[in-house]
Amino acid sequence: MMAALVMAQARLSVDLFDAMPTLGRKFLVAGKGGLNLTHSDPPEVFARRYGEHCARFLQMLGRFSPEHLRALAFWLGVETMVGSSGRVFPKDFKAAPFLRTLVQRLRDAGVRIHARHRLIGVAAGPRLTFERADGERVEHAAAAVVLGLGGGSWRVTGSDGAWTSILERAGVHVEPLRPANCAFAVRWSPQLLARAEGRPLKNLAVSTAGASALGELVVTRFGLEGNALYPLSAPVRAALASRGRTILRIDLKRDLSLEEVRERLAAGRGKKSTSEFLRRELRLSPPAIALLREGASSYELADPARLAARVKACPVELCGVADLDDAISSAGGVSFDAVDDHLMLRALPGVFVAGEMLDWEAPTGGYLLQGAFTTGFVAGHGAVEFVKLKG
Ligand SMILES: Cc1cc2nc3c(=O)[nH]c(=O)nc-3n(C[C@H](O)[C@H](O)[C@H](O)COP(=O)(O)OP(=O)(O)OC[C@H]3O[C@@H](n4cnc5c(N)ncnc54)[C@H](O)[C@@H]3O)c2cc1C
Repeated sequence: MMAALVMAQARLSVDLFDAMPTLGRKFLVAGKGGLNLTHSDPPEVFARRYGEHCARFLQMLGRFSPEHLRALAFWLGVETMVGSSGRVFPKDFKAAPFLRTLVQRLRDAGVRIHARHRLIGVAAGPRLTFERADGERVEHAAAAVVLGLGGGSWRVTGSDGAWTSILERAGVHVEPLRPANCAFAVRWSPQLLARAEGRPLKNLAVSTAGASALGELVVTRFGLEGNALYPLSAPVRAALASRGRTILRIDLKRDLSLEEVRERLAAGRGKKSTSEFLRRELRLSPPAIALLREGASSYELADPARLAARVKACPVELCGVADLDDAISSAGGVSFDAVDDHLMLRALPGVFVAGEMLDWEAPTGGYLLQGAFTTGFVAGHGAVEFVKLKG
């Protein structure tokens, strides 16, 4: 949609196809969590969220920045605000007004929207083949094409990742889609689940495989999820792929140093139960105490120094990853080596790629939608330039 807007504003004749009956279904799903549209991080910090693609994103964000996205929202009649964590949301936390007005502006700019058209083939030209809901096949030739077919999670929204085989057939290198910003499996005891399931663990610092993050976690029947774990998706996935398991260390009292925790626990629990002792001395919540006790020996719980070390680095073994369909986003996709600086596929001149179908990943916090809008802007401009050069 972003690319279509750029192309229509450059006075190109634009057709927008989507497999679903309506546009922007995942955007609406994101709205259920308040629509974290972007983040107020300074550019260098923002770009670092895209990991190995930091330099490329820094350059692209220079062309369509978080401020540009907020200005786009304003143009659509949606005022935004910066939350306490620096995240940017619409003031009413809703996605529908933004989407509704964007679709209207696309129509006003002359964009012809073709719903229920599933892309099933791309060939040089560029030529596209669609399958309509009634089973009919439709061919479409264009001067330039921007593909924004999404990742592979939340298939119900239309992003099913089936495009990977279409592009591979056309000679494009595609990294397998993998879950990102997702839950990881833990073999919890029934006792832990009874005490902690569904209850948030707040104000944590978590680390694994040399990477760390701050935030919250939630214990689920499947394992652990939450914004403290999402930024670690890539190293955890890599560790699980090579060893089948990895240890996550959770600092349950991040505002106190190990020394301070040791001091508070030094007197020993006396006649108090371990839970009572931890609640009183460290103000740990019941799920945090349950986590601390999970898998700990009675010797460890009774020894203040060992207990303090466990509070500051409670080990949890992660042993699996959630299904791609349940993840918030996907890693993998069209490799950046397969596109030029304008996001045009080297194997298919005139075909550009944007959004989650490109091989980048970023944590939650507004970086995903910003990445989708920014790459849509870059690809849309690339398509405009391509058409102009073609004459
Ligand atoms: C629960 C949830 C909450 C989220 N919350 C946030 C948030 O608050 N902030 C944030 O930044 N990000 C959030 N995200 C992520 C964000 O929504 C996505 O990263 C973003 O929508 C990706 O945009 P996209 O245009 O690349 O793909 P999508 O939004 O997935 O759009 C792809 C489109 O392509 C269409 N399509 C796919 N295949 C075909 C085909 N073969 N033929 C025709 N059409 C096809 C689909 O129907 C779909 O309309 C959330 C995601 C989820 C699942």
